[in-house]
Amino acid sequence: MKHNFGAGPGILPHEVLKQAAEAVVDFNGIGLSILEISHRSAEFEAVLDEAVRLVKELLGVPEGYSVLFLQGGASTQFAMVPYNLLPETGKAAYLESGVWANKALKEAKYFGNVEVVATSKESNFTYIPKDFTIPADASYFHITSNNTIYGTQLKQFFPSPVPVVCDMSSDIFSRKINVADFGLIYAGAQKNMGPAGTTLVVIKDEILGKADRKIPAMFNYQTQIEGGSMYNTPPVYPIYVSMLTLRWLKAKGGVEAIEKENRAKADALYTEIDRNPLFKGVCAKEDRSDMNVCFVAENPEHEKPFLKLCDEKGIVGVKGHRSVGGFRASIYNALPITSVHVLIDAMQEFAEKNK
Ligand code: PMP
Repeated sequence: MKHNFGAGPGILPHEVLKQAAEAVVDFNGIGLSILEISHRSAEFEAVLDEAVRLVKELLGVPEGYSVLFLQGGASTQFAMVPYNLLPETGKAAYLESGVWANKALKEAKYFGNVEVVATSKESNFTYIPKDFTIPADASYFHITSNNTIYGTQLKQFFPSPVPVVCDMSSDIFSRKINVADFGLIYAGAQKNMGPAGTTLVVIKDEILGKADRKIPAMFNYQTQIEGGSMYNTPPVYPIYVSMLTLRWLKAKGGVEAIEKENRAKADALYTEIDRNPLFKGVCAKEDRSDMNVCFVAENPEHEKPFLKLCDEKGIVGVKGHRSVGGFRASIYNALPITSVHVLIDAMQEFAEKNK
């Protein structure tokens, strides 16, 4: 087995993959594949119901919120959010903490006015801006809880006079959050929840219906809520595998238990980065992500040979994003701490060889 540090689609629990593989051939012993049954069948309705129930339970979703499984990735939410929440003459506030935040705010500009309350672009997003005011007349305030490319993560959420919309694509289900602090949460499944192909949306019902705009059915949260994520044929298989992954998470003790494991994995890796003379971290220490650990070699000539050593040890997916360079170890929920120790050992072996 490889040690999969890929940034996404990311590692899934091995037992989930096995169950998912079996269901492709024969789903729950019904003599049909999960891929060939109707989304309106009792079997699939039970899957979707359980997936929604698990999301509510694991995240502690309060009354008054709807849970949706949509398509089009988090990138579709970049547009769907302003389409539904931002009136043409209104304004939305955005925190620009990375490229994904930037893409989100660019999409919002098609629908209304955008105020960027703060940005860390000038430093290639190595920190999360904290000193800003959220305008009270904005329709919503958009943030990215974890910046996948740069390895920064919001450790505390900002108190806001307006509904907070949060892109949690790369840290959903990795730590405890208070859903009541948010008007809308969205996340592509393919890091901590399941395979690519579905996007989780958790939305406070009362924030809808204020944009005063005609919205085509597929892009309208209200239609999707009324259809129970089945206005059209939903992504049956990604929802099924997500449900299995959420079952796995529940059996592990839920978000609270995984948060502890994630913290231990991140602590071990950052400790090695700070200790090892050949490597250094790239972002502000207080903003370091527990999901995507970005670091570089002190000597750029060490980059290639270190990646080669990783490859020899079955460590995959650690090459940094092209806009940051160096290395990025994504340590999502399903990555065991033993894999983190294999990476740490490789770093130590590399330092020993290159003294
Ligand atoms: N937001 C964040 C934080 C991401 O990491 C990503 C993808 N890696 C996206 C949005 C885009 O997601 P998708 O490819 O599902 O559209």
